[in-house]
Amino acid sequence: MKRAIRSGAELRRRLRLPADESAEAAESFSTFVPEEFLRRIEPGNPHDPLLRQVLPLSAELADRRGYAADPVGDLGSIAASGLLHKYDRRALLITTGACGVHCRYCFRREFPYQAAHPADPDLQPPLDYLRAHPEIDEVLLSGGDPLTLVDEKLFGLVSEIESLQQVRRLRIHTRMPVGGTRQGTQSQCQTLMTRGEHGSREHRRSGLGQWFLAVRTTG
Ligand code: SF4
Repeated sequence: MKRAIRSGAELRRRLRLPADESAEAAESFSTFVPEEFLRRIEPGNPHDPLLRQVLPLSAELADRRGYAADPVGDLGSIAASGLLHKYDRRALLITTGACGVHCRYCFRREFPYQAAHPADPDLQPPLDYLRAHPEIDEVLLSGGDPLTLVDEKLFGLVSEIESLQQVRRLRIHTRMPVGGTRQGTQSQCQTLMTRGEHGSREHRRSGLGQWFLAVRTTG
């Protein structure tokens, strides 16, 4: 993911779009567009839907009634470091603050990752919380993007969750297969899918049955 566009001005220049006054918007949420993603955007077309996902626009900063920095109430749902508990039987793990592409529409673009997800390489606080709440049977790995984690950390986390008897569903929120360009994403997905299939056999007597990595592409 090293080869990426990191400014709105550069993005416009590369796509032969006129410059504009969106510097303030670009500062409010950093631009990050991998080269591979850039190649899918039609040059010279300001309405390209892929472009609109990543192009900073001054309209983002318009003060509109009913709009909020925390539109889905994440801040009020932080139950443990790195864990959101919004619904009785479902919990979401903030596994990382990193993403493979920065989406302008992200509802977590103003989420205080540093405060809500202090450096804890083993994510023990959320795992302890899950153990203390056996009613939670669905776990979401989110972020940021969990597929930006190195294999050891990602698969270690999946193993920890697989070992929880109460968990019946594991969901992984990621854009990496279609948006990011980290080397190794494909093999991570293959391993996760294999793990899911094995889960149906190895965890037959635990709560977690077969689980899947579902990928919906934008194209
Ligand atoms: S990949 Fe997801 S978390 Fe990251 S910026 Fe895009 S929508 Fe937000």
